[in-house]
Amino acid sequence: MILLQIPERRDAADVVAIGLIGTELQLHEVSTTVLPVAAAEACAQYVSAEQPDSEAGALHTVTLPGAVPATVLIAGLGDGGPDDLRVAAVALGRRIERLPESRSVCVAIDAPSPQQSRALAEGLVLGGYQYSLASDASEPLHQIDLVGNLDRAGLTAGDEAADAAGWARDLGNTPANDLTPARLGELAEQQLTPAGCKVTVYDPAWLADQGFGGMLAVGGGAAAGPRLIEASYRPRRKSGTPRLPHVVLVGKGITFDSGGLNLKPAEGMRNMHTDMCGGAAVLGAIQYAAMQKLPITVTALVPAAENAVSGTAMRPSDVITHYSGRTTEVGNTDAEGRLVLADAIGYAVSRLKPDVLIDIATLTGAMRIALGTETAGYFANDDDLAGRLEAAAAETGEPIWRMPLEHRYAKQLKSPVADARNNPGIPGAITAALFLQPFVGELPWAHLDIAGPARAAEDGPLLCRGATGFGTRLLARYLEATAGVL
Ligand code: MG
Ligand code: ZN
Repeated sequence: MILLQIPERRDAADVVAIGLIGTELQLHEVSTTVLPVAAAEACAQYVSAEQPDSEAGALHTVTLPGAVPATVLIAGLGDGGPDDLRVAAVALGRRIERLPESRSVCVAIDAPSPQQSRALAEGLVLGGYQYSLASDASEPLHQIDLVGNLDRAGLTAGDEAADAAGWARDLGNTPANDLTPARLGELAEQQLTPAGCKVTVYDPAWLADQGFGGMLAVGGGAAAGPRLIEASYRPRRKSGTPRLPHVVLVGKGITFDSGGLNLKPAEGMRNMHTDMCGGAAVLGAIQYAAMQKLPITVTALVPAAENAVSGTAMRPSDVITHYSGRTTEVGNTDAEGRLVLADAIGYAVSRLKPDVLIDIATLTGAMRIALGTETAGYFANDDDLAGRLEAAAAETGEPIWRMPLEHRYAKQLKSPVADARNNPGIPGAITAALFLQPFVGELPWAHLDIAGPARAAEDGPLLCRGATGFGTRLLARYLEATAGVL
């Protein structure tokens, strides 16, 4: 884990990181206390002799035996803009995370604009992320002194955005035997209450009383029953100021997806403890809003359930009645995400009076096939909202691609016995979005399908192996921009 600080005094450090743009070492703000003249000369010599790669993410080590610093890390910064800085900082954070805890580390990289500082802080903290339950796993704590031309608000924002994404990663990586729906609710309460949110966790009796038929059906086969997690953040506002916009975020919270009676094959079931990553993303995003005290009203809803197999599991051909009263014929028990989302969306629309509703879910294998594992697909019934999400995605480096809400396929949702069936067939990502749309009605709405980028088989430039936290920073940035914070 990496902790960032801006030191009062610029002390010498064992390891110093500096930047490289093209063939130019970025030394202008680095004081000789941090990088003595001899060390700076050694680095300059290294650069002219080796012509090291300056692409973002490239890292070069110059060792200076017996000197302080003994190690200089030269980080390729690409063009030095926020996107490249973030990638460079992730690589640097990963390297620093592997150092012995006793080494003092100073990162002397300029990031003068708020966006650059945010990207630098975000990258370092994201790069320092690790998850292991091995009995000998240690969680080293590295404090990094940041020196240079920096923007403090940007650093704080980046730090908090990365913390939020890190929490989402932790939740996603936690195996399902440790993360039941109830446990997810407890963790949300523990984390978000001190941040200034109100968290309510609704149990199966309440869900039954209120008519959450989708959640009860999906969670009905599991020993650990479903929960609806509702986190709300209401900023204090001065009297006489206009009502703040209310954004409701809904995140799929399937703590394990076996497929239900339509059981998944072994390979497809392997990572299904990450089927709650949409839920983790909305919890992380509301944490960011609360920590930053954004002037915007936010509610995060996580319909959490385990899709299991037992005598009480829902069956193909069951007909369920959702919160809104709409009915669904269960054609396939593995298309469970939409069933819990439908309940939560219906509840949000009728009870929470949102101005905007965004749902995020590891929803369809079809989207992963369409866009791969680095881009999420999304649908929107509102162009302004689509533009805001794309702007946020571009700023946070979490690419999204708009897909069509093509109503030509709506006929595939028809059921002989219910308002719709849950297995409307290909194109699976589009028909899943069309399934959700009636629950939203006319409200400005977007649906993000993160089945691809929510989990990764190995580390990438930004994303890490396992649960990636994808979407957390994007939603955090969307909330921030919608609140009018630049
Ligand atoms: Mg499924
Ligand atoms: Zn699922």
